[in-house]
Amino acid sequence: MKTIGMIGGMSWESTASYYRAINEGIKRELGGLHSAKICLISVDFDEIEQLQREGNWARAGELLASLAVDVQAGGADFLLICTNTMHKVADAIQSKIGIPLLHIADATAQQLIDDKIDRVGLLGTRFTMEDTFYKARLTDKFGIDVLVPSPANCARVSSIIYEELCLGAINAESRAFYIRQIAELAERGAQAVILGCTEIALLVQQRHTEIPLYDTTSIHAEAAVKMALTDR
Ligand code: GLU
Repeated sequence: MKTIGMIGGMSWESTASYYRAINEGIKRELGGLHSAKICLISVDFDEIEQLQREGNWARAGELLASLAVDVQAGGADFLLICTNTMHKVADAIQSKIGIPLLHIADATAQQLIDDKIDRVGLLGTRFTMEDTFYKARLTDKFGIDVLVPSPANCARVSSIIYEELCLGAINAESRAFYIRQIAELAERGAQAVILGCTEIALLVQQRHTEIPLYDTTSIHAEAAVKMALTDR
């Protein structure tokens, strides 16, 4: 079994979901007392969020790249960045390490393609919904059209992530707002909606809507399990 490298803590609420999902996946595949080999470094999210707010992506990239070097030195065979947003600096991280980065958008796109979906809604932080690093990857590399909510609704989707979900607060009013966004994206033609932030599944699950949801945390974790068990 390969050792899964993880940079987590963004936020720790979702890293806990990753840790559980990866170990459950390995247990399902291998049975018995098997569990995942993981080398995890978890950051202080307050420092990262401040760099995001300042727009200091260069510094954030350097910081995460140096942690990725440490994860590699700790024996990881490949790396997960346990957040969609910080894939904005994925190239800066990959350029400093010799092990592959399992990109969250690629894992998600592959799942969509397997399910023959080529027009999706995307919910995430304002960086994920508004910048090009994520949407353009889905469109240019995989031919998937991406819809996002209106600017005002994007702002609220994003603030719920930082002000509630990353703090472990689950609020029924916020859930109703998210479900409305999902319905509106479907009305505009989305065949499915990507939960493109690793905390969203703490708030909204498939049982809340009939529109197919693609939870990036569980897709990324499942892709990691598969990669860990390839050529074992
Ligand atoms: N975990 C979130 C994501 O998947 C947001 C936290 C962050 O800004 O990294 O984008």
